[in-house]
Amino acid sequence: MAEQKEYDVVILGAGSGGYAAAMRAGQLGLSVALIEGDKVGGTCLHRGCIPTKALLHAAEVADEMRESATIGVQGTFTGIDMNALNAYKNGVVDKMYKGLSGLIVSRKVEIINGWGKLVSPDTIEVNGELIKGKNIILATGSTSKTIGQTITQRVITSEQALNMDTVPESVIVLGGGVIGVEFASIWNSYGADVTIIEGLERLVPNEDVAVSKTLERAFRKRKINFKTNTLFERVEEDYAGVHVYTKDGTRFDAQYLLIAIGRGPVTANFGYEEQGITLDRGFVITNERLHTGVGNIYAVGDIVPGVQLAHRGFLQGLFVAEEIAGLQPKVIDENTIPRVTFCNPEIASVGLTTTQAEEKFGKENVETVEFNLAGNGKSQMLGTTGFVKLVREKDGPIVGFHTIGARMGEQIGEGQLMVAWEALPEDFAGLIHAHPSQNESIGEAILALAGKPLHTHN
Ligand SMILES: Cc1cc2nc3c(=O)[nH]c(=O)nc-3n(C[C@H](O)[C@H](O)[C@H](O)COP(=O)(O)OP(=O)(O)OC[C@H]3O[C@@H](n4cnc5c(N)ncnc54)[C@H](O)[C@@H]3O)c2cc1C
Repeated sequence: MAEQKEYDVVILGAGSGGYAAAMRAGQLGLSVALIEGDKVGGTCLHRGCIPTKALLHAAEVADEMRESATIGVQGTFTGIDMNALNAYKNGVVDKMYKGLSGLIVSRKVEIINGWGKLVSPDTIEVNGELIKGKNIILATGSTSKTIGQTITQRVITSEQALNMDTVPESVIVLGGGVIGVEFASIWNSYGADVTIIEGLERLVPNEDVAVSKTLERAFRKRKINFKTNTLFERVEEDYAGVHVYTKDGTRFDAQYLLIAIGRGPVTANFGYEEQGITLDRGFVITNERLHTGVGNIYAVGDIVPGVQLAHRGFLQGLFVAEEIAGLQPKVIDENTIPRVTFCNPEIASVGLTTTQAEEKFGKENVETVEFNLAGNGKSQMLGTTGFVKLVREKDGPIVGFHTIGARMGEQIGEGQLMVAWEALPEDFAGLIHAHPSQNESIGEAILALAGKPLHTHN
């Protein structure tokens, strides 16, 4: 008979959602077991957000070196040393991993290493042991979709792309969404020849149309090739590289094919369905309080339908821990979750796109303003183009914030505040943005929305 341990909360998966839930539950005095088959930190820390952003930072430095002479700084870009770059990237990950592991332990969370399976509504089996929880949180995350392709030396996903030991000469990126455009941007900056193939009519199709247009213009200028409205048919591989055939009969050749067509939930073979949990195409269906409808089982993170972002997982993890502790947290408004794509130029948005707002309120009831970064001093110093766009319900609150431009990702905080607080342009009267900062561009957009633009023409 297997040994049985019991906790207030048992969490399956220690990625962004799972570890946030564990730390908050521990902070609230609950006994917690956090079961992880690989490393705490999950996709975001080891295979996602953190390593990609390290590669993107190196890409920014490479671009700045290439262009430095244009601002009078002499220097030469001679190439990328992938060994040194990987050491830097892995160093950042390792440091954060150590910090996170220490933090989790300091919250008195018990980490159990092993692959767990839900064997009854209140029990997870791991390493032959039965771990019983008054509450269970499923947080098993996501993995790259591969459209049935076998992953090889040359046909890769983001996981392999993060660990290359040379800069590729050429890459075809299948998918012009967040992960696809980030890698396209990285490799272009490192000197590779990049072609993106996207099935829909524009790059970053979930963003406002104006953002896609500006990104496409910037990518053209950077000589990142892309083909939209183009459907993948098949890939062949030989000693020379990959040959990608699209449905329109075109063939694209490169050294590598990166498949970046989205991520699917990791929920198969863990006993979820057997215990009565409803899955829809693998995603765990919950109510708005993230309860699965079975026992005291909750789900958080990428396995729950919605935007697959680390900070959404954190928020859901905190929410469920507080829910279990009886704190009755406020239901999460998914519409106010900020989204940042860290390609160059960066994209940041929150709330409704113009199209979504028009669908919701009617075309005549939507007002938009765009402040062009050409009128922003700091952006001019950085040599970037782009804009801040605000979408407002006519005479009502700001419902959407969209921006594109170098380093504009850091401006998302104010965008989120204005959308989440349903701010009116008048609410900003008397507030001014520091000069000369990129943040000022938001102030300018608000002034324009209030009908009193400062640095643009009426
Ligand atoms: C290349 C890339 C870049 C990204 N960049 C960003 C970004 O810049 N910003 C952002 O917000 N998001 C980004 N993301 C998305 C982000 O990584 C995910 O949204 C986030 O990691 C989801 O957290 P999660 O807890 O749901 O799952 P995960 O982080 O996937 O964690 C799930 C964990 O569960 C474990 N597990 C699974 N099954 C079991 C089992 N049966 N037993 C035990 N353990 C199990 C796994 O080993 C894993 O550690 C990126 C993703 C990728 C791939």
